[in-house]
Amino acid sequence: MSNMPISIKKVSPGLLKAEWSDGFSAIIKIEKLRSECPCADCREKENETGKFVMPTIKMGKNDLKSLQPVGNYAVNPTWGDGHDTGIYPWEFFRIIFENYKMSEDEIIDFEEKNKNKPDIPGLNVRSN
Ligand SMILES: [Zn+2]
Repeated sequence: MSNMPISIKKVSPGLLKAEWSDGFSAIIKIEKLRSECPCADCREKENETGKFVMPTIKMGKNDLKSLQPVGNYAVNPTWGDGHDTGIYPWEFFRIIFENYKMSEDEIIDFEEKNKNKPDIPGLNVRSN
């Protein structure tokens, strides 16, 4: 049986919700999905020191642009910084949602904090 969710959507800036047919659903911070990127590049950075290193913050790093299914076994996100080499098998995708599931309070807190954040320059450019 595939662990493909029945729905995935951004519920607010920075938050992603997924639901599965067995009734499990969760909201996680999109940055968690990025930090779990299973591609060789991202995993290598982690292994060099054996410890987590604060990654260089790139513009758009945690900005989820799209989620492209790979066959019926995985999903391939494209990020705002152009990174698109992570293939997340659905089983792994589900585990991320189980591990990082946010509580109601955490979600309210997160939305409250992000409400007052100024727009990141360069992302919401409007020409008149
Ligand atoms: Zn990666």
